[in-house]
Amino acid sequence: MPGAREVRADHDRATIVMYQAYPDAIADVAVKQQRFGPPFSLGRMTWIKPSFLWLMHRSNWGRKSGQERTLAVRIRREAWHEALRLAVLTAFEPRVHGTPEKWRQAFEAAPVHVQWDPERSLRGAGLPYDSIQIGVGRTVISRYPERIPGQAPAYMLAWAVGEYTEKALGTTRAGTQVSVWHLPGEAEVATTGTLHLKGAVDFFEQRYGTYTFGRKVGSVSANWGPGAYGGMEHHPYWHVASDAMDDKLVHQHEAAHGWYGNGVRIRCWEDFVLSEGTAEYLTARSVRATEGVEAEEAVWTQWRAALARAVSRGDTLALPDSTCNEIDIISHPLWSNIPYMKGAFFYRALEKRIGAAAMDRVLAKFYRRHVGGTARMQQLLDLVQAETGYDPGPLAAVWLRGLGLPAEIP
Ligand SMILES: [Zn+2]
Repeated sequence: MPGAREVRADHDRATIVMYQAYPDAIADVAVKQQRFGPPFSLGRMTWIKPSFLWLMHRSNWGRKSGQERTLAVRIRREAWHEALRLAVLTAFEPRVHGTPEKWRQAFEAAPVHVQWDPERSLRGAGLPYDSIQIGVGRTVISRYPERIPGQAPAYMLAWAVGEYTEKALGTTRAGTQVSVWHLPGEAEVATTGTLHLKGAVDFFEQRYGTYTFGRKVGSVSANWGPGAYGGMEHHPYWHVASDAMDDKLVHQHEAAHGWYGNGVRIRCWEDFVLSEGTAEYLTARSVRATEGVEAEEAVWTQWRAALARAVSRGDTLALPDSTCNEIDIISHPLWSNIPYMKGAFFYRALEKRIGAAAMDRVLAKFYRRHVGGTARMQQLLDLVQAETGYDPGPLAAVWLRGLGLPAEIP
């Protein structure tokens, strides 16, 4: 016999089937287009359920008005899991909620409700085990790209579910629309943090090359809980921790990964600095481009302190590239601020030697050559020498392949 409360559903690795009853007008459009369209609209709360028999019982086998047609709707399992994660039971249960007051507070704030009802037999009789229903509030919007045109590494894909408000930030000269999606109460911090985001994306496009992950991009607030900071390069809708929504550097860093980190991917985890160090340097450059050198100087001042902190906390080589994919990044000391900070300062030191124009020429050429594929940091160092005649080896030895703080910090 099935467990009293378990999810029984038609599913595969990626998707799960929900059954929904609709009138003809909605069902005809959905079947024809294979997606919902007008006159379909989300009501105050839409209930989705994986039990066919439960729904047939509820719709009186399609005889109730407005419920004549039952559609099998395939949704992504990530969305289903996220809905479950956000869900609160529709009734108080001492074991789960502790007190009725705690339940009421959680229930009223929850964007998703979950309810268990007796499963039904073919003849509609109640069975001694339950079937799940999930009520998804109208304000719960899942934010994810429908498709990604470029080559996308697995970690790039992400779904965000929440009560999002989109704020359009404008369109770049290349025609990329930039937005920020924030959660309730974040309008102000989201505005502060993304003041120059469109300008930064425009700068990256103009200076380094065409963006490959879609025509619409932006920052999506991700509530990872207190203390979680930073972002994640889920292009084209990269995530920024709710706590960091007011931090322009986080927004612009995640945007920069569209060129380095995602656009050009690292071949080996040992080349982590090619992703993070480059993205940090590009972040500083985007500040220079959008706000001027003084604002950029303030960033480097902040980063000098971060560099010293990172070294004192646990110094490690920023580029341990004598091997390829022999380290486990999560348990390796490289999983720290070292590749970010030493990488950024390596580029800054290099720029002081060869000039910003040559630096950009190399980064643009390298991007065009490797976009959609993988590369190693050494290849970039080789291109610096080939393009400019300057040997970056000694600088790399100090900043990337050496320990400690170099005597000269630019
Ligand atoms: Zn990053």
